[in-house]
Amino acid sequence: MTTEKYKQLLEKRIRSSFDDWANRTSIEEREIYRFLHNLKGTAGTIGMTEIENEAEEKLSLFSDEGTRLFTYSEWYEVLKPLLMDIPLNLTEVNPSESLVVQQIALPELTENRILIIDDDVELAAYLKGILEARSYPVNIALTAERGLKLFYDWKPDMILLDILLPDTNGLEVLNQIVEKSQQEHSPIIVISSEDTKENRIHSYRSGAMDFFAKPIDEQILIALIDNRFQMKRQWEQSIIVDELTGAYNRRHFNRTMRQLISNFKRLGHVFTLVLMDLDHFKRVNDTYGHLMGDEVLEKFCDIIMAAKRDEDILCRYGGEEFALLLPNTSKAESTGLLARIHDQLESHLFTVEDQYFQVTFTAGITDCQMDNAHPKSLVEEADQALYLGKQSGRNQTIHFSPQMVNNHSEQKLNIIIVDDDRFIREIVVSQFMKWQPNRNIHVSVQGYEDGIQFIDSDWYSEQEKYIILLDGIMPEMDGVEVLRKLRDEYPERNIVIAMLTGRTNQTDIIHALQLGADDYIVKPFQISELISRIERLVQKILK
Ligand code: GH3
Ligand code: MG
Ligand code: MG
Repeated sequence: MTTEKYKQLLEKRIRSSFDDWANRTSIEEREIYRFLHNLKGTAGTIGMTEIENEAEEKLSLFSDEGTRLFTYSEWYEVLKPLLMDIPLNLTEVNPSESLVVQQIALPELTENRILIIDDDVELAAYLKGILEARSYPVNIALTAERGLKLFYDWKPDMILLDILLPDTNGLEVLNQIVEKSQQEHSPIIVISSEDTKENRIHSYRSGAMDFFAKPIDEQILIALIDNRFQMKRQWEQSIIVDELTGAYNRRHFNRTMRQLISNFKRLGHVFTLVLMDLDHFKRVNDTYGHLMGDEVLEKFCDIIMAAKRDEDILCRYGGEEFALLLPNTSKAESTGLLARIHDQLESHLFTVEDQYFQVTFTAGITDCQMDNAHPKSLVEEADQALYLGKQSGRNQTIHFSPQMVNNHSEQKLNIIIVDDDRFIREIVVSQFMKWQPNRNIHVSVQGYEDGIQFIDSDWYSEQEKYIILLDGIMPEMDGVEVLRKLRDEYPERNIVIAMLTGRTNQTDIIHALQLGADDYIVKPFQISELISRIERLVQKILK
């Protein structure tokens, strides 16, 4: 949909509000305030600067709390300049027709993600701004603790770090971050306002790759970041082993898979693919800490290494997901191996101080045949079997069968926009209504005009995923309050939240991030920016 159409829609909306008001004896002050507030945001978003400025100027005349009644002649006198800005020969626009859904492509998952760990929100927000303008996905953590969590959950490719973070146990967490980032080959750039010799030495000794002094020169920083990502890419080409577990990495997995498929096609050598995923691994991390989680991953790999044959290839497929490639083996022939691994992992007692716990995993298996001899098909089949195993009790290995394909229930992704600005709701709903990021995902979009209305609706279901966009200011319950409720009362892992904040006030941003918002978008925003932001959030929630 073109910006031109949005403009026409907005103009139409202004007219129809005025028409509506003209039929009423009086209008309450806060209704006028709200109208102008929304108008300002929307006009700014779609680049109607004159109206935006006009609305801003008028806004100062009214109050959000005001109850004074304005008669027609009173409000019309004040607001009529807004109508002047609108050309009279408007062509009729039918909203449902004009809000044409564009095809949206999901961004490449290989995009380089940057995590900013800094308690200086102004700086963090500033950096986020310039990096996002360069299309780098960015996340902010205000504490080292949160940074560590994001490190494991979001897996950034680079960290911008304020090394003088103040949390109490900051240092220990910091060491963990450094160690983890070195394992993952994600460079750390320290950004500091204190450009002293000691700080530089300390940063380099602690494992940082670069030290960048404030005040920041945007161009130099971007050049440095681009340079480091390029280095990282070259490095990664040469690495085939995952440092934490000793398993091969995903790149090697892809290569080996291609090789095995080609052997199958040329020589008829069958092979089997096993995908394994630890059960409730998140709980291990949450209960015993990420270091313990890492230990579990290592142990799991040790067990597999000891159980498999030499020619079998173990790869770390993702965080706590592993792939086993078994050359010259059929699905049926792999049953024994999997049973041994299940037994050994299940019977291993992990110890933390004087507590014990056990861990299990679920696996999906498929083997290479004439009709599925393609990397993508094989992974999809094993993944479907794995998914079924998770759905039906975990701690088991499921063999893929073609009947599963139809039963495989698709994932449901809900995009929810809570904003009293109808216009913003319409844009989001129309853009994403018919969107399908991939064939296993069903997207549904809902709009609510107030926090209360949203919270009171029956919106939540445990099996589904959510991207929730919350407007900062709403009449009954504002976005911050909704945010707090969501983080207090619902599990975090299936819900990604972005605040739409109309104010550039830093304390609002700090507050939102502290309360667990994943992102914030400052109004007025460009529509294209909002859309690409939602795409990023989608990427974040669909692993
Ligand atoms: P399920 O049984 O459905 O698989 O539940 P789960 O908790 O294992 O599900 P999920 O896949 O959502 O959680 C995976 C977690 O693994 C999230 C992430 O924090 C954690 N993780 C990913 N990589 C690492 C890592 O290298 N070390 C540690 N300790 N945790 C990791
Ligand atoms: Mg997983
Ligand atoms: Mg898991």
